[in-house]
Amino acid sequence: TASDAAALVDRLTAVVPDFPTPGILFRDVTPVFADAEAFSTVCAGLAEPFEGGFTAVAGIEARGFALAGGIAAQTGTGVLTVRKAGKLPGEVLKESYSLEYGEASIELRPGQLPKGSRVLVADDVLATGGTAEASITLLERAGYEVVGIAVLLELDGLGGRDRLASRVPVHALGSAP
Ligand code: AMP
Repeated sequence: TASDAAALVDRLTAVVPDFPTPGILFRDVTPVFADAEAFSTVCAGLAEPFEGGFTAVAGIEARGFALAGGIAAQTGTGVLTVRKAGKLPGEVLKESYSLEYGEASIELRPGQLPKGSRVLVADDVLATGGTAEASITLLERAGYEVVGIAVLLELDGLGGRDRLASRVPVHALGSAP
């Protein structure tokens, strides 16, 4: 159930101060991936509000890939990879967005699914929402309908949910300061 999934995220996520840079409280969800029962439970919990409403899951590099694969295997759907710039061959769509310091770019290969396909976006942590917002834009530019974004954890006070909620439903299993 969703509350089991939330409890597992809360129990297994490691909190690492000052990583990757001083002042950042990093949420390391990889222990959730390593535990077979936890991984299965969180993938089910992420998909639950959207079940039956999507044919592919777009994972955001890199931890979103693991979640997208798990959700897709459980729901009989496919996987799209939203990648850091420069990793995908051939024709790509690109979106740049600002970070606290500097800029980042992500890319998507268009044409892998029929236009109008319904896609769920998956990632581990929603912070400012910049990465998720750029991912939604890429998927829409490719002609897909984004049915929602599902994350293990949303961080309070960074505005991620507000930034995305006008565009797609936001489903977070847990939240953290
Ligand atoms: P943002 O674009 O600000 O929402 O950042 C989201 C991306 O950065 C996600 O792909 C997360 O994996 C990662 N991220 C941001 N802040 C944290 C944090 N405190 N702990 C772990 N991952 C984070």
